[in-house]
Amino acid sequence: MEPRHRSVVVVGGGIAGIEAARKLAELHQSPLLVVPSEEALGGKALRQGVLALRFLMEENRLLREKNPLERYRELRQRLVNFWNFWRQSIKEELLRLGVEIVYGRAVFTSPFLFSVDGVSYETERVIVATGSQWEVPDTAGDSFEMWTEWENLPSSLLVFGEGREACEVAYLFASLGSEVSLVTSTGVILQGKGERFRQVGEHLLRRAGVKIIEGCTLSKIERDGSLWKASLQDSWGNEITLSGEKVCFLSRRRSTLPFSLEKDVTTGKVQVNERYEAKVKGVFAIGDIIHPGCEAQVAKREGILVAENVFLDMVPPLVSSVQLHKDRIDYRLVPEVLFLDYPLARVGMTVEEAKMRFQPYEIQLVEREWPFLEGQEKQRKVIVSVLLHKVKQHILGAVVYGPCAESLVNLFSLAMAQGVRFHEIGEVMYIAGTMEDFVGRFALEI
Ligand SMILES: Cc1cc2nc3c(=O)[nH]c(=O)nc-3n(C[C@H](O)[C@H](O)[C@H](O)COP(=O)(O)OP(=O)(O)OC[C@H]3O[C@@H](n4cnc5c(N)ncnc54)[C@H](O)[C@@H]3O)c2cc1C
Repeated sequence: MEPRHRSVVVVGGGIAGIEAARKLAELHQSPLLVVPSEEALGGKALRQGVLALRFLMEENRLLREKNPLERYRELRQRLVNFWNFWRQSIKEELLRLGVEIVYGRAVFTSPFLFSVDGVSYETERVIVATGSQWEVPDTAGDSFEMWTEWENLPSSLLVFGEGREACEVAYLFASLGSEVSLVTSTGVILQGKGERFRQVGEHLLRRAGVKIIEGCTLSKIERDGSLWKASLQDSWGNEITLSGEKVCFLSRRRSTLPFSLEKDVTTGKVQVNERYEAKVKGVFAIGDIIHPGCEAQVAKREGILVAENVFLDMVPPLVSSVQLHKDRIDYRLVPEVLFLDYPLARVGMTVEEAKMRFQPYEIQLVEREWPFLEGQEKQRKVIVSVLLHKVKQHILGAVVYGPCAESLVNLFSLAMAQGVRFHEIGEVMYIAGTMEDFVGRFALEI
């Protein structure tokens, strides 16, 4: 049978693929979106990443009075309801906009010829948004489930990894009542995110009861009755054995490529130009497969940018009259939040990065602790560290911890994107006792 022809195809239904398909449909291009199954819509962000974590942290706060086992069951039920609701809303929106969705894994014979469940398709443009997967040691076999699949709260848990994802999952389960060990291979958690961020993150993890086991390599992991038994070697060559009811590997992610594409030799990520086009013309790649540790909001923005670029290729006569973005994202301006209780957030350069870039007299670090009134009378502290260019007063970076960390860090990121100087923040804020006022007072006090 002749392959079905579609002018543009998006492969992968994570945040990046959904956004590319949505934008293409808004530009009247009727894309075909290939997703392995309805459950796969939303990808990692929904199943195990930012959406799931943030949802669980918020709901956990509301259910504190329940005992841990009951609370976990209730949380899981709410999470499943949230997933169903999210997927249903997205599916309806995509179909309403004119996106054609096919369920099944795309198997490629060439970049422009593939089949899904025995049905062949050909295309001229393909947007690859197939994400990445966590690397799981061979010895562990196939019996792994992702942490959101666990029906019951594990009494003990081993988390392997040192980045944001591992820290968040470790924190979540420790605050739910599991005994958690976080095993790092490097010996330093949250590396490359700045010393202030790292210190506060580590303090909160330890306070929640997470046991941090630093600088260990995993030699073997196997089932031992109802437990997982892990044999580790520390940096002095000593053997350590740990066991846990559940295990979670959140250390390294590997790109999920549906066909071979040229990769960067050091990072192993797919190489693309500033239009997100790979070395093969007509093949575009976005999201997790082109970045180490991509953010969901970056994946989303790339979906929009790539759709606009593909649209410009498809509709040449309009090129001169349409002003669309073609550029890459400035990743420094994308804020990052560690979903702990309260959240810890950062954006921009770290002090260490600024020291490499500027002269010592050019940078200034301003640190403040502020009382923050929450509800009736509960007072909490918000800790803010802002890194400034001393001469130009531009904000280079910020770290925030406290009840409003997520909103505050967004504000700093906006100010950075617009080139607003630090003292100017104070001049444009509202007078009322809002979070913005808080930033205003903060900026005016220096
Ligand atoms: C624990 C954790 C915490 C995180 N925390 C944050 C956070 O706080 N903030 C933040 O911004 N980001 C966070 N992230 C990162 C964020 O979730 C990811 O960067 C983002 O979801 C990547 O989206 P994506 O669309 O590129 O890839 P994915 O979500 O991986 O989607 C890829 C999709 O492609 C499908 N696919 C693969 N192969 C094929 C094929 N051959 N045919 C069809 N479909 C295919 C997959 O099934 C999947 O549905 C976190 C991630 C994790 C795991």
